[in-house]
Amino acid sequence: MKPGPFDYAAPTSLREALRLLSDTERDVKVLAGGQSLIPMLNMRLARPELVVDITRVAELGRMSVDADGALHIGAAVRQAAAAADPAVRGGWPLLAAAIEQIGHPQIRNRGTVCGSLVHHDPAAELPAVAVALDARFTVTGPGGTRTVPAEDFFLSTFAADVEPDELLTEVVFPASPGTGWSFLELVQRRGDFAGVGVAVLVRRSGDAVGEARIVFCGVGSTPVRTPEAEQALVGRALDPVAVEAAVLAVRGAVDPPGDVHASAQWRREGAEVLLRRALNQAWENCA
Ligand SMILES: Cc1cc2nc3c(=O)[nH]c(=O)nc-3n(C[C@H](O)[C@H](O)[C@H](O)COP(=O)(O)OP(=O)(O)OC[C@H]3O[C@@H](n4cnc5c(N)ncnc54)[C@H](O)[C@@H]3O)c2cc1C
Repeated sequence: MKPGPFDYAAPTSLREALRLLSDTERDVKVLAGGQSLIPMLNMRLARPELVVDITRVAELGRMSVDADGALHIGAAVRQAAAAADPAVRGGWPLLAAAIEQIGHPQIRNRGTVCGSLVHHDPAAELPAVAVALDARFTVTGPGGTRTVPAEDFFLSTFAADVEPDELLTEVVFPASPGTGWSFLELVQRRGDFAGVGVAVLVRRSGDAVGEARIVFCGVGSTPVRTPEAEQALVGRALDPVAVEAAVLAVRGAVDPPGDVHASAQWRREGAEVLLRRALNQAWENCA
């Protein structure tokens, strides 16, 4: 299929991009990597009158680590570039591992980290990782810049806290709260969206778990963090008894939907299987 007609603009400054987005006369859409927007245009699920390509805005293409050790990823940074970056691989291996499970290389070469977060497919890997890593979102619009914590950013299926005249200009990942990590997902075929996935972070305190983060994707309309399961682990060694206590807590906390891709039962059982594997993996690679 072909998209409906639209005007195209490729600004080279953030100011110009924001000016174009503030056009209240027309339906305007941001184009980042185009890996979700272009299919939506082709299927005519979106029919904007103006498409604003942000990939030529140099200041949005930057990735850096600040003095506090936080990682900043600009809106035009491609998923593949982030996953290949030595600073990301060393300091945020959970993020790199999750990106590598997004679609196929062609998708990751074009798709952006921020585009995936704004698009917010509930089966996508990165929203769950953003919640696990306590990411902060920098959103810029006509009223200035605001910062949104990850737990407030994802509103519901395909909806995030970014207005049509705003841009997610960057996502900031603080230094990782865990040292052991794992991202696992169940897919029908390699490269598919996750039927269910889990991001796990574990920090050791002596022989016991000092802190744990467990966040699922694919089991709700937003990423689902399970504090009950995290608390079931804290203060004890991560042995099979502790793992089963966490699994039991997840059984009570997760109520996934069924749809054409997978039944609710498949997702529920998948979440438990993944959690067992991910906890063991995270504990093994805990420093
Ligand atoms: C075959 C295929 C397989 C895929 N598999 C997966 C997968 O397994 N897991 C997964 O997570 N994703 C998958 N994707 C989607 C891919 O990750 C997309 O790249 C991502 O969802 C959107 O990022 P993008 O940069 O391409 O954004 P675009 O497609 O350009 O934009 C997506 C939406 O976000 C808005 N937007 C983008 N950036 C901004 C911004 N900075 N500020 C405000 N609004 C913005 C756009 O207006 C649009 O509404 C797949 C895509 C394809 C085609």
